[in-house]
Amino acid sequence: MEFKETVAFTDLGLSEPVLKAIKDVGYEHPTPIQAQAIPIVLMCRDVLGLAQTGTGKTAAFTMPMIDILAGGRAKARMPRSLILSPTRELAAQIAENFDQYGKYHPLTHALIVGGTSMDEQIKRLDRGVDVLIATPGRLLDLFSRGKILLADIKILVIDEADRMLDMGFIPDLEKIASLLPPIRQTLFFSATMPPEIKKLADKFLVNPKTVSVSPPSSTAASVEHFLVNVSHAQNKSAEFYRIFRQEDVKNAFVFCNRKRDINDVCKFMRSKGIKADKLHGDMEQSERTVALNAFKNDQVQVLVCSDVAARGLDVQGMSHVFNWDVPFHAEDYVHRIGRTGRAGATGRAFTFSTPNDFKAVAQIQKLIGKKINVFGGGENVATEVPADAGTGEAEKTEERSARKNRRGGRRNRRGGKPEHSAAKTPSEKPRNHEVRQHGHADENNGTFGTDVPAFLKKG
Ligand code: AMP
Repeated sequence: MEFKETVAFTDLGLSEPVLKAIKDVGYEHPTPIQAQAIPIVLMCRDVLGLAQTGTGKTAAFTMPMIDILAGGRAKARMPRSLILSPTRELAAQIAENFDQYGKYHPLTHALIVGGTSMDEQIKRLDRGVDVLIATPGRLLDLFSRGKILLADIKILVIDEADRMLDMGFIPDLEKIASLLPPIRQTLFFSATMPPEIKKLADKFLVNPKTVSVSPPSSTAASVEHFLVNVSHAQNKSAEFYRIFRQEDVKNAFVFCNRKRDINDVCKFMRSKGIKADKLHGDMEQSERTVALNAFKNDQVQVLVCSDVAARGLDVQGMSHVFNWDVPFHAEDYVHRIGRTGRAGATGRAFTFSTPNDFKAVAQIQKLIGKKINVFGGGENVATEVPADAGTGEAEKTEERSARKNRRGGRRNRRGGKPEHSAAKTPSEKPRNHEVRQHGHADENNGTFGTDVPAFLKKG
């Protein structure tokens, strides 16, 4: 993550208790979005924040909100501020931010999300809360049952507005906004600004100050990302495993476009002895929490997930992201690979692309304004991506990689064997991971033993 090292937290106008909590967390400098947004939020102005996840944007609104709300007291069922989040996991992370930065304030917060007991949430609301963090559906549900009154909301935060759009939440947002007092402070965050989001921002915000940390839809410099071309979808598993073994994968998200593939990919990972679990929107909330906690605690190395479940999740120090499928929407590419390379760390991302994906890849390259380098070795089928989509960097990397391969194979990052030899000896135990071989795996052909899920075999 980028830091504004010329600015100190003490320059931003935050109170002593918040500064003390920041010190406890160990942050040295504000990130650019924090340096820009915090003083404006403290002035009670509306903010239009253009920032991707991983930039420190959650703290950019939670820290000043804690100070603004410090003076008052919440009444039963009448929260004083409302934060709308597209997913339950993201909502839970926002709540964690309030716990961290608000530890020296007596503020209360409640998490109103689907998939968990409504009774507990209602009891919490009855006691009165300063900050309500909610997903739109559950909030409207409780409102329609008369369990919540929104007439005292002084601050509204809309987080990840572009994701709300993708998830079809815009009508819910409009409904919720119509239930709030018109005189309020609104903070609106989005990673991208498609026309529908611009329209919504114009409607919700009054004379906002725009803060932007990097051009929308750009990828973080701290992520090295590569395209892995495969001739057929069924070869993705072999290519994944080849790369997985040669990379130093501490932990990774593997994104699939379809929920039905998540199970099969997860099964495949487990068949290879990889500690894998899944995360998708159809899972019970309790299962999602268990999977995420196991991943955060390093009991699970690979989480196979959908975009919806993984959006905005903050897992510290994730080393890799794999796109099992090229995302349908170019913006999702930015979000997915933004899961790694966070908070100052570097990360690596690999996207498996078949010849059918060339249009989607071209769209991503157009969006991010550069070509994605092709990862050397393996099958590496040429995919026809229009020449005007990039800068020529990819060709240089391909040439370098080909030169290396001619010299006897690319060495892995830990100085291990060249990948050619790894591929030729499929029964050899990998060096970096405890990975079991099952059946008669022949990775060069992308065919696996009897434990191969059916979908990996189809064309
Ligand atoms: P976010 O963009 O809100 O998802 O935050 C991404 C990560 O950055 C989280 O793990 C935060 O704990 C971390 N973070 C936020 N602010 C800072 C800061 N000023 N210095 C270092 N890390 C930070």
